[in-house]
Amino acid sequence: MAIILSGKELSDRLTAEQTERVKELKAQGIHPGLAVVLVGEDPASQIYVRNKGIACETIGIHSETIRLPGDIGQEKLEETIQKLNEDRKISGILVQLPLPRNLDEDAALATVLPEKDVDGFHLTNAGKLFSGRETVIPCTPKGILYMLKEAGIPLVGKEAVVVGRSNIVGKPAAMLLLKEHCTVTICHSRTKNLAEHTRRADILVAAIGKPRFITADMVKPGAAVMDVGINRVDGKVVGDVDYEPVAQVAGYITPVPGGIGKMTISMLMENTLEAACRQGR
Ligand code: NDP
Repeated sequence: MAIILSGKELSDRLTAEQTERVKELKAQGIHPGLAVVLVGEDPASQIYVRNKGIACETIGIHSETIRLPGDIGQEKLEETIQKLNEDRKISGILVQLPLPRNLDEDAALATVLPEKDVDGFHLTNAGKLFSGRETVIPCTPKGILYMLKEAGIPLVGKEAVVVGRSNIVGKPAAMLLLKEHCTVTICHSRTKNLAEHTRRADILVAAIGKPRFITADMVKPGAAVMDVGINRVDGKVVGDVDYEPVAQVAGYITPVPGGIGKMTISMLMENTLEAACRQGR
């Protein structure tokens, strides 16, 4: 039976540490602040944004949610982001994705100042990650790596298989694991014989967006299975991994909820504190 990697326990610990750090930073004249830009009425985004606001409040940092109507034009959206770039109370800016279809997501992300980009999605920061340099690491992949390291799971020379190649999870997760000297395979919807790849994985990251897609026969005995998926099925939140059967085979597994999702928010707080320190205010 797999060891359960609890994102909740770890994130509770991080929250306590971050709360102390915020007090120390404030004593040094550094006041971290996060602005979240939310466009439209997507219900999942509303929940994520609310949780981000609660996390800021809990650790004692300033937060603002800028709610914009779904039919806002590109120019207005970019003007709003520019104002936040210039706002000294704001150390970090996050544009909640996905944006409504009428808007250009890449152009909006490119408007955020790289030093205020707490998601690590600006091309400058993504480019640095891909060239192996120090940079802002996207929150979900950063949380995955944090959990693996906290659990003492060896990475050097291990086979890591990432299923999913999105810019926000799959690709940066693969880059981070590569930096840790794993041998990395990235799989996607056109991958042939997916299970042959996943069965080789010592570390298996599932970032697909399909409920219970990774089944027990796709998992190597003893593997660390990191489930990024958040899927709603019959009113219940489930991951991309068929949890109960996979837990019988894996060595480590992250639950959904209470796994990587929790870590993502903790890492967002981490990135915001780091941004405030870099800006020295
Ligand atoms: P995307 O939809 O952007 O990417 C999904 C990826 O899965 C794509 O690369 C796609 O391949 C691949 N894929 C789809 N079907 C298959 C298949 N049958 N076999 C192999 N690969 C497949 O999703 P995200 O990366 O944004 O998110 C993934 C999941 O993680 C979602 O459930 C999302 O809600 C969740 N999520 C959770 C977060 C957290 O904090 N825990 C944060 C962000 C996301 P292709 O590129 O070929 O289309």
